[in-house]
Formats: sequence, structure tokens, C-alpha cells
Amino acid sequence: MSAPLLRTRGLTVDYRVGRGRLRAVDHVDLDLHQGETLAVIGESGSGKSTIASALLRLVPVAAGSVEFDGLDWASLRGAALRRERHRMQFVPQDAGSSLDPRWRVRESVAEPLAVAGTSARQARDRAAAMLDRVGLEGPLQERFPHQLSGGQRQRVAIARALISKPRLVICDEAVSALDVSLQAEIVNLLVELRAERDLTYVFITHDIALLPYVADRVAVLYLGQVVESGPARDVLVDPQHPYTQGLLSSLPGAHPGGGAERPVRGEIPDPANPPTGCRFHPRCPVAVDGCPQVEPAVVPVSPAHSAACHLLEPRSATADPAVPLPSSLLRKARS
Ligand code: SF4
Repeated sequence: MSAPLLRTRGLTVDYRVGRGRLRAVDHVDLDLHQGETLAVIGESGSGKSTIASALLRLVPVAAGSVEFDGLDWASLRGAALRRERHRMQFVPQDAGSSLDPRWRVRESVAEPLAVAGTSARQARDRAAAMLDRVGLEGPLQERFPHQLSGGQRQRVAIARALISKPRLVICDEAVSALDVSLQAEIVNLLVELRAERDLTYVFITHDIALLPYVADRVAVLYLGQVVESGPARDVLVDPQHPYTQGLLSSLPGAHPGGGAERPVRGEIPDPANPPTGCRFHPRCPVAVDGCPQVEPAVVPVSPAHSAACHLLEPRSATADPAVPLPSSLLRKARS
């Protein structure tokens, strides 16, 4: 298999909090190949958006490496970073706050091209064509952001992200603010554009119900650490970590194999003061002696699927591909 388009090793991000330090992302390893979608899931406060910010070079990387598109991405600085930024673009949760309210949307979409030196006429024509492609035609392109619906603004954000022909697009809760029918429309559009333009996505979401539709691979994040990762079907059908099992159980009837439903209880702890040992132990329904003291290692449960839990034994078998996805996930994905 070819080298990943994106590879992080030991990616670590720290924030200063008063006199102390908060480790928002803690030694995260990710691999993402061209044309794939990696979903990063977890509760609010798990560090998902900080990973997005670190990949986009909006916050400093405290430790670790980021290789992207053949570049030592984390080491790029100044003019070199500005020159290469177009390769990785971003679709935010709330496009309204990321668009200049004084600009018509076609101007907003054309702006990255104008900054890169494209002539005004060419930038305008390409922006119009891109807006056509995402479903905003004619007079809609002349509107200001506040004159568009939430779904239309997300389409503008997608057009603005794609106008620079990126290799990788980071979608950070890009459909979370929309109602279910609009979510389906925007997810469909993203899926179509991925195939059409050979795009690669990092899809950050707290909504597991979207995964069967959008994700090839899944990384489950808890307090800044990846606690489980693997092919989306394996993780959804055969979740190994109690946290992943709990997240899946929060969907009615979603627990695979008919096992007991164990929704995640309690609140995610303060990342500035994470629990010792396994960080999930205060909320884990199956914690054992040693969990509060000893941090679990990442254990491979199949060649591409791994999780970090003391209860896991390494194994070579993969999840049975004949096992269907949980019905509630499929219902949501089809809606
Ligand atoms: Fe639960 Fe212990 Fe596994 Fe952590 S290591 S998930 S506390 S059983």
C-alpha cells in the first residue's frame, strides 16, 4: 500500500492554563490514505477540535511529527507554510462566523484565489463555478451570509474550502448545527465531492450515527488520547474499548451483538487534571484492580484495529464482515 497522505506520530498539543499546562492532545498516532475519510469521534472536551487546529497549524505542536503530502508539515514556518496551506483546508461547524458579513458569498469564495495571485476575473469565474457545483446558483451567489440559510452557508464554506484544490479537508462538526434532513444533504454533497475530486477528509464529529455513511476509518478520542481506532465497520460492529461501547450504547438499540447497553455515565473529567492510570477508569463500568494506577497499552485486536484497555488480549481475527451494522445507525445514515 502507498504511504499515507497524512501520518501523525506522537502528536501532542499543550495549552497554558494560568501557571499550569493542559495537555489537550496526548501522543496521537493517525494514518490516513488518499481518498479515505477518517472520523475522529468523542465527547466535547476530548480534544477533537484541537487535533484539527494542530493539523491546520493554528496551534503549536508541542511534540511529535506530522507528515502530510510528502512534507514535514509540523516544521513548516513563515512563507513556506503560507505557500503550502492550500493543500489542507477546513469546513467549520458554523460557516456564518467564518464568512465576512460585509462580503457577498461569491467574493468570499474567490478571496483565497485572489490572495494567491489569480486575476480578479478568473477568481470570480472559478468561484461562481464552484458555488454552482455545491448547489448555490445565480442570485444566491450575490447574497450576503446573513441572507442565506444555515445549510446554504455550509455550502459556501465547502466551496471556499475546495476552491484552492486541497488534498485534505478537515470537517470540524461541519453538519452538527443543522437539522437532520440538512445534515443528510450536506453529508451527501461531501461524499460526492470526495469521489469527484479524489479528496481525503478528516471528519470530526460527536455524532456516531453519521459514521456508517461517511467514515472509512475511526479514531475514538478520550481526554486527548486515542483509545480505539480501526476500520469503521470493525469499530462499529465490534467495539473493543468500554468507552466506544458506551458511545454506541447511547443510541437506542445500537449495541452490537445484542449485548447489554452501557451508556457512558458521568461527565468527562477536567483535561487539566486527568485521572491517573487509565483516564477512563472513573467512568468505566468494568474497571478492574490496577486500572486507576496503570495506563493501558494499545493492543492490536486485528491487523488494522486496536484499542487501549487492560481487559483486551491481542488477537488476529477480524470482525465478522457478515455481522450487520446496528440498525439505528443505518436508519440515521439513510435519512
Ligand atoms: Fe476500563 Fe480498565 Fe479498560 Fe480503562 S483499562 S477501559 S478502566 S477496564
